[in-house]
Amino acid sequence: MRYELSPLPYAYNALEPVISAEIMQLHHDKHHAAYVAGANAALEKLEKYQNGDLPDLDVKATLRDLSFHVAGHELHELFWRTMQAPSDNNVPTGEIAEKIEKSFGSFSAFQKLFSATAKSVEGSGWAVLYESPKNGLLVLSVEKHNLNHAPGYTPILALDVWEHAYYLDYKNDRGAYVDAWWRVVKWE
Ligand code: MN
Repeated sequence: MRYELSPLPYAYNALEPVISAEIMQLHHDKHHAAYVAGANAALEKLEKYQNGDLPDLDVKATLRDLSFHVAGHELHELFWRTMQAPSDNNVPTGEIAEKIEKSFGSFSAFQKLFSATAKSVEGSGWAVLYESPKNGLLVLSVEKHNLNHAPGYTPILALDVWEHAYYLDYKNDRGAYVDAWWRVVKWE
């Protein structure tokens, strides 16, 4: 089994002016691709170790590496496919709107919490909206790509707040990036 990088579901410039083509190209083709390569390299090491082709392996470090890269890969796959060309008054409708209202009271209450989560991530990480069939929706901040996930919950919307996601466009103003990002969320 090997991980594969999916092509972007739109052109590099599709999210402009919220996210530039330059960022999208670097972010997808270099950063995301590196997570896929890292995940596959860790898998290969583990396979060789299992088969006896690699006499010695720091299993603990390799598994940590695998966790980081697999989570990075999966969160980016989700990130790309839940964005689209920017639009004004971009709010959820239908089933997702109902679920948000049920779990958070209103869309604006959810938006306030999610934005504050994204803006308050220390260093590199993500704001993630999760869903559990039993317990509804939950917002968490993820450190790096792999720390703080909630077992039993599936990520359904994720905002990358690593500097590589916005620095070329917004410099150190992560808040402006987070506020603008709501225009490109693909709610459907
Ligand atoms: Mn990223």
